[in-house]
Amino acid sequence: MAPVPTATTPVETTITEVRPAPTASSLRRFAFPLFALVMLVLPALPVPDFWISQSNYIGLYALVALGLVLLTGVAGLISFGQAAFVGVGAYTAAYMTVTLAASPWLALVVGIALAVIAALVLGAITLRMSGHYLPLATIAWGLALYYTMGNMEFLGKYDGILGVPTLTLFGQDLGTGRGLHVVIWAFALLAAWACSNLLDSRPGRAIRALKSGATMAEAMGISTFRYKLVAFVLAAVLAAISGWLFAFFQRTVNPSPFAISKGIEYLFMVVLGGVSHVWGAFLGAGVVKLTEDQLQVLLPRWIGTSGNFEGIVFGIVLIAVLKYAPEGLWTFVQRRLPRSDRRRDWEGAAPLPAREKPARGEPLLQVEAVRKQFGGLVAVNDVSFSIAAGDIVGLIGPNGAGKSTTFNLITGVLSLTSGQVRWRGESIGGLPSRQIARRGISRTFQHVKMIPEMTVLENVALGGYLRGSSGIARAMLRADRAEEKRLFAEAERQLARIGMADRMHELGGNLALGPQRLMEIARALCTDPALLLLDEPAAGLRHKEKQALAAVLRQLKGEGMSLLLVEHDMEFVMGLTDRIVVMEFGTRLMEGTPAQVQASPQVRAAYLGTEH
Ligand code: ADP
Ligand code: MG
Repeated sequence: MAPVPTATTPVETTITEVRPAPTASSLRRFAFPLFALVMLVLPALPVPDFWISQSNYIGLYALVALGLVLLTGVAGLISFGQAAFVGVGAYTAAYMTVTLAASPWLALVVGIALAVIAALVLGAITLRMSGHYLPLATIAWGLALYYTMGNMEFLGKYDGILGVPTLTLFGQDLGTGRGLHVVIWAFALLAAWACSNLLDSRPGRAIRALKSGATMAEAMGISTFRYKLVAFVLAAVLAAISGWLFAFFQRTVNPSPFAISKGIEYLFMVVLGGVSHVWGAFLGAGVVKLTEDQLQVLLPRWIGTSGNFEGIVFGIVLIAVLKYAPEGLWTFVQRRLPRSDRRRDWEGAAPLPAREKPARGEPLLQVEAVRKQFGGLVAVNDVSFSIAAGDIVGLIGPNGAGKSTTFNLITGVLSLTSGQVRWRGESIGGLPSRQIARRGISRTFQHVKMIPEMTVLENVALGGYLRGSSGIARAMLRADRAEEKRLFAEAERQLARIGMADRMHELGGNLALGPQRLMEIARALCTDPALLLLDEPAAGLRHKEKQALAAVLRQLKGEGMSLLLVEHDMEFVMGLTDRIVVMEFGTRLMEGTPAQVQASPQVRAAYLGTEH
């Protein structure tokens, strides 16, 4: 991200090219049905058994890899322990069908339930912690489960469980080849369809927002912890389904396919294939399986001794991929596919539910002696002011005065050292920012926070998160389309308001800084706020854009919206605000009308650094 310019520094915008988002809407329409058809009729074609067996492996691997796309590529969480979840599914299948003589389908339900429980426990402990705790925990989990499987008498120790029956469906024995192929690929394709649907939905956008840090998502009302947990559980379930199928494919289970090294191989597959793309999972699984077999035969022959040399080759390839194609091989395929814009199918959708607006003049926000200390630095020093409904208040002061920190205290991004914030009489100091967002306070950020690989429209629709209700299951089954239309209609309406409707299909990351700021305002408006906090909205805007922004803010004022505005452009602030709070070195220097502030020698001194 480019450094955020102030009114006094020249605007420098870096436009980084970001590739299309994995909405897969164009692919699904044509390529997906064709691919699905080919995979499902493959067993009926006169292809060699070896092909079918390879294809079975690819489908099984792809299921696990798909979970890692959600978890690692989309949500930004790394797990080395997916092989252990595969083991849970496989051992449940083997133990229940062999030892307990239970139905394989019951074993599927139990296997999934066990994986969900394990993922919930593991996730609840680690997902609240920062960054690397999850990868470490998944390694520990992978090792622990591996040795558990290898040492439990009832699981057959390292010999495992032999004699797993074949799967039967409607009285048909599916065997381990062509019949099972249909089942494996039905699961894999169904999972791909459900995951594509999910990524293109309200909860899916919340998951896609995780990678860019929690602050913005939480400010839009999203519980980032909850969605991290969701991604982790979904990945575990996909792995467990793969393991369940694996047991009936191999007809025997032992600990070695579920070791930590296999977990690393799954990660390798998705990184190679394309870690943030649903089809990257399939491509990666295919490429790894097919080359692995070749390498296992060729490498010992070339080198002259036997050994697992393919691991070395994969290690080298992994480094090369990370360096030269970090988005994976799928991007090379994707570039050749046509990209179609989302169909604008939301015309006439019913408006989203709206909040009951406070009456003009009603006391809204009371900031009471709020204080924030960073170690020895008092960034905000017992600052007080209040805002009534319909007020446009400016918050000005030199750089480092504590304006953004004050915003963060009001919106719950930072915790208060002391003091209190009241919203319509209720104390909200100390609430998490998503709870504060729920009450009708929305904001933009001085340093733009958005999802670069989402379209402008999707970024803005994130703001409507709290006004929708579709959950994971509805989204996966595509039963959320009516609500999606309402969300997109609202997002477009807010974009049109700031003059950006014609850019809704562009990727957020491809916008210059000015339009990115406007997009953030549209996103904040999409939350249907009662109070809007704008942190330097005009910074980086061209003159024309600034005028347009001022017009929008005046219109909002006319509609009775309350605004708190941090801005360095004095002309902009003076022309717009009813009242101005001036800060310097964390303290409130004065408060008054624009005319009073302009006339104040104190304020002039603060800005010029001289005392007259
Ligand atoms: P403004 O928005 O008025 O330019 P800020 O609120 O961003 O100022 O910063 C006020 C002071 O607090 C600055 O000295 C800044 O360096 C410091 N500060 C802000 N955030 C942090 C933080 N997370 N940790 C430590 N110091 C911080
Ligand atoms: Mg600031």
